[in-house]
Amino acid sequence: MEKININGTLIWYYYICPREVWLIGHSIEADQESDFLILGKHIHEIFYKRQKKEFLIDNTVKIDILPSKKVIGEIKKSSKYLKSARMQISFYLYYLKQKGFLINGELLIPEERKREKIVLTTEIEEELEKAITEINKILNQEKPPKPVKIPYCKNCAYKEMCWS
Ligand code: SF4
Repeated sequence: MEKININGTLIWYYYICPREVWLIGHSIEADQESDFLILGKHIHEIFYKRQKKEFLIDNTVKIDILPSKKVIGEIKKSSKYLKSARMQISFYLYYLKQKGFLINGELLIPEERKREKIVLTTEIEEELEKAITEINKILNQEKPPKPVKIPYCKNCAYKEMCWS
């Protein structure tokens, strides 16, 4: 099986839609005019411009560092997809642990004025390892999984591709 690099975005989508994992993993262009995507691009600037730095590790994992707190943080628009968000941050912690850095994470939801501490446990590590195996299986399929209608579809950048 071909080994494909896994990143935090793929982990996030794995808990939403396997078809989207495949489309993103194969660099299929999404609808760039989607309001949802545009908001996502600008939310860092809107709320946390002066508080964080963005880093790219090994050209694979993009993380936000909150310098004053020695934690990595991930900013989300809402708490709607909490499981995905928690696992995405956990993936960054897991990745950094492999590199010898043991730190905690923080999930920030500025529009709801919420923050949540994320700690990497053995159970989460095991779940991540299973998710990584499954993502690799999805990405190595010749065709994307068939679309399945879920609430996320209405905001998804691929909705035209899946449902028109
Ligand atoms: S539109 Fe729905 S089925 Fe298609 S990729 Fe997006 S979430 Fe998945």
